Amino acid sequence: MTHGDNDPFELEAMIALRRDLHRHPELGFEEVRTSDIVARWLEEAGIEVHRGLGKTGIVGTLRVGTSSRAIALRADMDALAMPELGDVPYKSTTANTMHACGHDGHTVMLLAAARHLARTRRFSGTVHFIFQPAEEGRGGAQAMLADGFLDRFPIDAVFGLHNMPGLAPDEMAVVAGPQLASSDSWEVTFHGVGTHGAKPHLGRDAMTSAAHFLTVIHTIVARRVDPLQPAVVSACAITGGDFRALNVIPDDVRIGGTARAYSAQVRDQLEAEIGQLAAGVASMFGIRASYSFKRRIAPVINDAGATAAAFAAASVVTGKPVVTDFPPSTAGDDFAEFSNLIPGCYVWLGNGPAVGGALHHNSRYDFNDAAIPTGARYWTALVEQELV
Ligand SMILES: [Zn+2]
Ligand SMILES: [Zn+2]
Repeated sequence: MTHGDNDPFELEAMIALRRDLHRHPELGFEEVRTSDIVARWLEEAGIEVHRGLGKTGIVGTLRVGTSSRAIALRADMDALAMPELGDVPYKSTTANTMHACGHDGHTVMLLAAARHLARTRRFSGTVHFIFQPAEEGRGGAQAMLADGFLDRFPIDAVFGLHNMPGLAPDEMAVVAGPQLASSDSWEVTFHGVGTHGAKPHLGRDAMTSAAHFLTVIHTIVARRVDPLQPAVVSACAITGGDFRALNVIPDDVRIGGTARAYSAQVRDQLEAEIGQLAAGVASMFGIRASYSFKRRIAPVINDAGATAAAFAAASVVTGKPVVTDFPPSTAGDDFAEFSNLIPGCYVWLGNGPAVGGALHHNSRYDFNDAAIPTGARYWTALVEQELV
């Protein structure tokens, strides 16, 4: 591969690789081909490679100079289980699998920076390049931590990046505080006593309890959570009864949904309040409710110090002022697993206009290759500024 002063990030090769990854997307914990390519390109650049963290995760380690300071830069590698409906020439060749969140671009930008840093070595300290599997709700960050990531690779700070349609590809947003919401799921089952639909008085109606619960659940956000704190509680699934038996009141009705918050306190509150309401409504109708709350992804909350470092790096790589008032997203990212333990900062990099309105997780979304140089420059500047 050719590279030089006017092509520090091997741009042509990186764009080709991004499109190759796009053509061959892999779901969480199945990134065998992707992680193998990443490992080989890191090794070729002389970077120490550790395979198999969190099954398909890779950590590349580059040590330069004498400083004991260490930071980690994280990219995610997985695709989504959905069909690609756009018609790019490098369209997915795997049925019902698509890079609809731009993780192909994230992987390539970090790889480009890693190879550049391995050549130029203008820093002192240790940088660990995290190529994480399974960000899309499958627990890749947790799996890497469970495999001893922090013991094997002690770090002082951790940094993440996600593309964002709507910002220009040479534009970045760096904001302290909450960036992404917690993303948890909950289930309530009302256990009544089933009976003949014509004789409701002989049973205990779980259906009516469920209906009441669905109307009062919105009082959690409206009446219980601090109005200055964002929160979402949504019911998203309900099952009970059978359309082939419309004369039967069922024993049980099951409801499930999502809960989102931007602080640990509100997250705890949502967990408690949903269960309390379910129990209260059930008792109002003389029945019982079972409740479970599954913590999936913690909120991503940027540390002030790490954010100052990210801002300084973003300031020197983009021709545009760094956006510092970008609103948080109600989506989630398991980068929080790292940044809950180590001071961290998660930034946004523009992906250009949302072509045809295609945002993340849209079947026509595509990562914008014009963002690759900005992302690679950001990672490089961050390392050179942080490890001195
Ligand atoms: Zn996504
Ligand atoms: Zn994503």
